[in-house]
Amino acid sequence: MSWQQKITGALRLQRESGLWRQMQPVTPAANATLSAEGRQYHHFSSNDYLGLSRHPRIIDAWQQGLNRWGAGAGASGHVTGYTPAHRELEEALAQRLGFSRALLFGSGFAANQALVFALAGKQDRLLADKLMHASLLEAAALSPATLCRFQHNSPQSLQRLLSRTCDGETLIITEGVFSMDGDRAPLRELRQQADASGSWLVVDDAHGIGVCGPQGRGSCQQQGITPDILVVTFGKAFGVAGAAILCSADVADYLCQSAKHLIYSTAMPPAQAVAIHASLHLIDVADQRREKLQHNIRLFRQQMTGLRWSLLPSETAIQPLMIGENQSAVDLAAALRQRGFWINAIRPPTVPAGAARLRITLSAAHDPQQIEQLAEHLYALQS
Ligand SMILES: *Cc1c(COP(=O)(O)O)cnc(C)c1O
Repeated sequence: MSWQQKITGALRLQRESGLWRQMQPVTPAANATLSAEGRQYHHFSSNDYLGLSRHPRIIDAWQQGLNRWGAGAGASGHVTGYTPAHRELEEALAQRLGFSRALLFGSGFAANQALVFALAGKQDRLLADKLMHASLLEAAALSPATLCRFQHNSPQSLQRLLSRTCDGETLIITEGVFSMDGDRAPLRELRQQADASGSWLVVDDAHGIGVCGPQGRGSCQQQGITPDILVVTFGKAFGVAGAAILCSADVADYLCQSAKHLIYSTAMPPAQAVAIHASLHLIDVADQRREKLQHNIRLFRQQMTGLRWSLLPSETAIQPLMIGENQSAVDLAAALRQRGFWINAIRPPTVPAGAARLRITLSAAHDPQQIEQLAEHLYALQS
């Protein structure tokens, strides 16, 4: 079989199974709206949970940063790409989140890959929640360490894995708020299990940081625990892009010696670090936005009672409407699109087979009327 045949065959299969994916350019606008092909839509698919991506202070900080530092870092941080702007952000993050050190990465995807590849060797074991993000699971699958997945949010299932013997060290890996289900990990139980077994706990809080816990300091502070390693990302509630790993001084030094995603990759633009720093300050004092988000979440769940499709029991900004069949989910998303609502259908392999859904996300930028209108249209579409 030639490359061309291999690719045409794969594309045909993808289309026929209702799994076709494509990117479409959209223009995001204020008040949780976007436009595409000349039409305006209410935007219910963004992870910009606090509406900070358009905040004038963040935009201004980024612009000031460009004037001060230029457009790009020009090299890996190990060469000359690391600036005082990077260092100040790392120190602020470490101090806020209660760790000795923070290390910046270009993306959460890179941070998770770096973590797994740098830390886990052949004798070691990675015990990850079944619904863990693809960036981590993929790295774990390629890592020489043994990967086992425990049942979603099940300390019992984790315990069964922990009771098996292992010659090396163990990382217990979870998300704080799960990206496709919107539920929270039982972090206290996982922390206890890590302590009792001498394992380390890794929490990826991409969807909790900025939104959950006092001053938006994330799922771990919300549940009163400190993981051994915390991954946070800046493309969601922070409204910017990039990520950081928070850890002890020794782990940070260790990652600096061995994480290829740091060593062989150009550092984040310093201006971006300045923008993230501005966002960090805003998040500290964003209680009003967090309250508005909580209000929107409650309103949404009230409005959706009595629908034919069920919501998962989520208390967070991620509110999946479970549809089941891939094609039904795609059709419903298309019908909503017709009616002026932008919501993406999520299908396997992002979610398990038969669990296709509309991943509806709420933001502090939504008006209550947008949520009420969405509910009206969903009721109209179910009959
Ligand atoms: C979005 C996400 C990532 C990836 O972060 P990026 O900065 O977008 O690359 C990692 N983990 C989880 C749980 C995520 O939701």
